[in-house]
Amino acid sequence: MKRKTFIKSSSAALAGSYLLPWLSACKSQPMNSLNWAGNYTYKAKRRLTPDSVDELTELVRKERAAKALGTRHCFNDIADSPVSQISTANLNRIRDLDASRLTVTVESGIKYGQLCPYLEERGYALHNLASLPHISVGGAVATATHGSGIKNGNLSSAVRAMELVNASGEVVPISPDSQPEAFYGGVVGLGGLGIVSALTLCIQKSFRMQQRVYQYLPLQSLKENFLPILSAGYSVSLFTDWMKQEVSQVWVKSVYDPMNTGITDFYGAKPATKNLHPIEALDAVNCTEQLGEAGTWYDRMPHFKMGFTPSSGEELQAEYFVPLENGLDALLALEKKKELIYPLLQISEIRTIDADPFWISPCSDKPSLAIHFTLKPDWPSVQKLLPVIEAELAPFGAKPHWGKLFTLDAGTLQSRYEKMGDFVHLLRTFDPEGKFRNHFLDTFIYSFEHK
Ligand SMILES: Cc1cc2nc3c(=O)[nH]c(=O)nc-3n(C[C@H](O)[C@H](O)[C@H](O)COP(=O)(O)OP(=O)(O)OC[C@H]3O[C@@H](n4cnc5c(N)ncnc54)[C@H](O)[C@@H]3O)c2cc1C
Repeated sequence: MKRKTFIKSSSAALAGSYLLPWLSACKSQPMNSLNWAGNYTYKAKRRLTPDSVDELTELVRKERAAKALGTRHCFNDIADSPVSQISTANLNRIRDLDASRLTVTVESGIKYGQLCPYLEERGYALHNLASLPHISVGGAVATATHGSGIKNGNLSSAVRAMELVNASGEVVPISPDSQPEAFYGGVVGLGGLGIVSALTLCIQKSFRMQQRVYQYLPLQSLKENFLPILSAGYSVSLFTDWMKQEVSQVWVKSVYDPMNTGITDFYGAKPATKNLHPIEALDAVNCTEQLGEAGTWYDRMPHFKMGFTPSSGEELQAEYFVPLENGLDALLALEKKKELIYPLLQISEIRTIDADPFWISPCSDKPSLAIHFTLKPDWPSVQKLLPVIEAELAPFGAKPHWGKLFTLDAGTLQSRYEKMGDFVHLLRTFDPEGKFRNHFLDTFIYSFEHK
C-alpha cells in the first residue's frame, strides 16, 4: 500500500489564470505536474479536462498546442505538451457492448480497472491485460502496452476501430476498412495524430483463471526449455535479478482447471507455498491471488490489484523488445552484464507478446520477447546503465518501450522501424500545423525527415 506523496503542484493557480471564458464548462483539473513515478515534471502550462467529446472538440479546435494525457504512467515526456495537456480522466463512459460482433466501445479515458468488472458482469472478457489495471485504455493503446502470452498480442491488438479528434477539432472514425493507413499507422500513435475519444475493442466470453508461482528456475533449465516454459500457460512471466544463474519466480497464469493442482516441480522450479510479490522483500498484499485459486480473468491477468500500489512505487522502468527467435540469446547477452545491472535493479520481468499489424508497435509483425527492468529511482546511475543494456541488445535490433526510459539515439531507434517514414507522413497529414507535437515526438519521430 506504500506510495509516495506527490508534491502538490503550484502551477494549478497558473493554469486557472490561462482559462478563457469559453472553457467555463470544461473543468480545469488541479494540476499534478508529476507523472505517476514522480521522475518527470510536465512542462505544460495548463491541464484541461473535458467532460464530453463535444467539449473535447471545442478545446482541440481552440488550443494552439495540446497533447492527450491518460493516467500519467509513462516514465518519459511522451505525454507532455509545450502548452496544454488534455486529460481524458472524465471521458470514461462505456458506450456500447455489441454481443453479436463481440466488441465493446469505450471512451478512451476509462481505466482497465473500471472496464473489466463491467465486462465480467455481462459474461465477457478482454484477451489480455498489463501488469496493472490502473492505466487508461487510450494511453495503453497509444504506447503498445502489453501483458504476456505467446499467443496474446499487446493491448492495442484488441482495437477494432477508433474515434479521434483531429487537429481541426473534427471527430474522425477510423477502422481498418474505412482508413487502413490511419488504422494500422495510428492505433499505436503515441498521441501524435490527435486525441482518441473512443475505442472499439474486441471481447470474448468470460473465463476463469488461476495463477501459480514457481521459485528458483535454474538458468540451465530455461536454456534447454525456453519456448515450452514461456508457453506453459495463457500468460507467463519470468522474474529475475540476473544473479545466481536462476529465474527467481515464474508466474504461470492459466485458464482455470480444477484438475491442475500444480504441486509438481516446474522444469526444476518449486511451487511457491504462499503468495509472493515479484520483489520478494515486498508484501504480496498488493498482488493478485496465487496458489492456483480460481478467480475472474481480470483478477489474475494483472500482477497487481486495483486500489493497491502496483510494482514497488519508488522506481524507474525501462523495457526492450527483441524478436522472440532471438530471445534466449538476448537474455544470455544481458546475463553477462549482471554485475552492472544488479546494483541498480529492483527486479527484471521477461514476457512474450505475439505479433501485431501496427506500424510502430515494437512487436510489429514479429512475435517478441520483452525484457523489462524495474530500477532504483537513481536517474544519474540508470542513465549510465541503459547504454550498456542497449549495446548488449543492439545485435538483436531491440526496440525500447515507448512509455519507459531509454537512451538510444533517435537515428538508431528510427532505423529499427521499417514504417517510420510512413508514420511521419501520416502524422503530418493528420496534424499539418503540429498541434500535437511535443519534445518527445520532435526528438524521436519528426526528426526522421531531416535525414
Ligand atoms: C507501475 C507500472 C506498471 C506498468 N506495467 C506495464 C506493463 O505491464 N506493460 C506495459 O507494456 N507497460 C506497462 N507500464 C507502462 C504503461 O502501461 C504505459 O506507460 C501506458 O502508456 C500508460 O498509460 P497512461 O494512460 O498512464 O498514459 P500516459 O502516460 O498518460 O500517456 C501515454 C501516451 O499516450 C498518449 N495518450 C493517452 N491517452 C490518449 C488518447 N486518448 N488519445 C491519444 N493519445 C493518448 C499520450 O499523449 C502519451 O503519448 C507500466 C507503468 C507503470 C507505472
